[in-house]
Amino acid sequence: MTMNRSVRLKSRPVGMVKRDDFEITEEPLPEPGEGEFRVKVEYVSLDPAMRGWISPGKSYVPPVEIGAVMRAFAAGIVDKSNHPDYKPGDAVAGMLGVQHYAVSKGARCFKVDPAKAPLERWIGGLGMPGQTAYFGLLEIGKPKPGETVVVSAASGAVGSLVGQIAKIHGARAVGIAGGPEKCRYVVEELGFDACVDYKGGNLNEELKAACPDGIDVYFENVGGEILDAVLARMDMFGRIPVCGLISAYNSTEPVPGPMNFRSILVNRLTVRGFIVFDFQDKMAEANEKLGTWHAEGKLKMREDVREGGVDAFPDVLNLLYTGGNFGKLVLKL
Ligand code: NAP
Repeated sequence: MTMNRSVRLKSRPVGMVKRDDFEITEEPLPEPGEGEFRVKVEYVSLDPAMRGWISPGKSYVPPVEIGAVMRAFAAGIVDKSNHPDYKPGDAVAGMLGVQHYAVSKGARCFKVDPAKAPLERWIGGLGMPGQTAYFGLLEIGKPKPGETVVVSAASGAVGSLVGQIAKIHGARAVGIAGGPEKCRYVVEELGFDACVDYKGGNLNEELKAACPDGIDVYFENVGGEILDAVLARMDMFGRIPVCGLISAYNSTEPVPGPMNFRSILVNRLTVRGFIVFDFQDKMAEANEKLGTWHAEGKLKMREDVREGGVDAFPDVLNLLYTGGNFGKLVLKL
């Protein structure tokens, strides 16, 4: 008999997640009820936000309960359905959790077309991370032609698209990434104008050289020292969409505020946090644009697909917080 295998939260982690913070459970396959369908999950998305989802305290979504299946975006194939809009064989992506089989009513789930892009890309550049780059940059960053857009975590799922979308809109794109290999990829393969290796020891000098006219838009993915270096180079009336602060997600100590906070005042900066779901009413527009640019070859996307199934989940998740991933991190089941 085929069994379902799920990753469940066992305890709230302190610092980086550990294998012991989760347990793998086996249970009979869930049966779809009336108006539901079952998905055989093939790829699970590993997202930096997962660390926040398993922490206690106030956030933009309630924390995953102890004992519950770990929350995750995932993609797979419908294998049984009592839902009028989904039939066996349909490829879908949505909030399906870290498990081999998931039952859904269709909420926050959408059909995808594997003929247009591989299944795993629909939880990457053509899914939530792509939408995040699109809304954060265009709705908050609002780059104008000729302006300089800087993005941190530039080789990653969100950052890689931010720079490419900035280029489509006529801006200069400058990435910040960890290591020469990622920086080379960002410039030579993604087409950014420059990329600064923040691990190289000369962040401030290299950022200045890469942004001789200052920075108009900073798409913030990491926080910490990188944010301070960028704040020191911001231009008047610059915009900072605050998308993520990954450098602090595993902190066990209070995180110091930016040293260069004064730059917000003297440069009249607009700093605005956002969550991709804030733009729910424009999701169709984002998906249409991302799909078109992808089909036209204007958006390059890279997935970092890891093997090992549900057992590998905690170790693979940690790659995000050490820069061990190179592209959109996905776990294959
Ligand atoms: P990703 O960039 O594919 O992977 C994470 C990357 O962050 C790592 O590869 C690493 O790149 C970098 N990083 C990790 N620790 C760091 C540190 N201490 N200092 C500097 N860089 C560090 O991940 P993603 O899915 O695209 O997410 C990027 C950011 O967007 C995250 O902050 C995430 O929380 C945020 N996000 C926000 C929303 C939203 O709705 N607001 C939605 C999706 C994602 P390097 O090797 O280059 O250091």
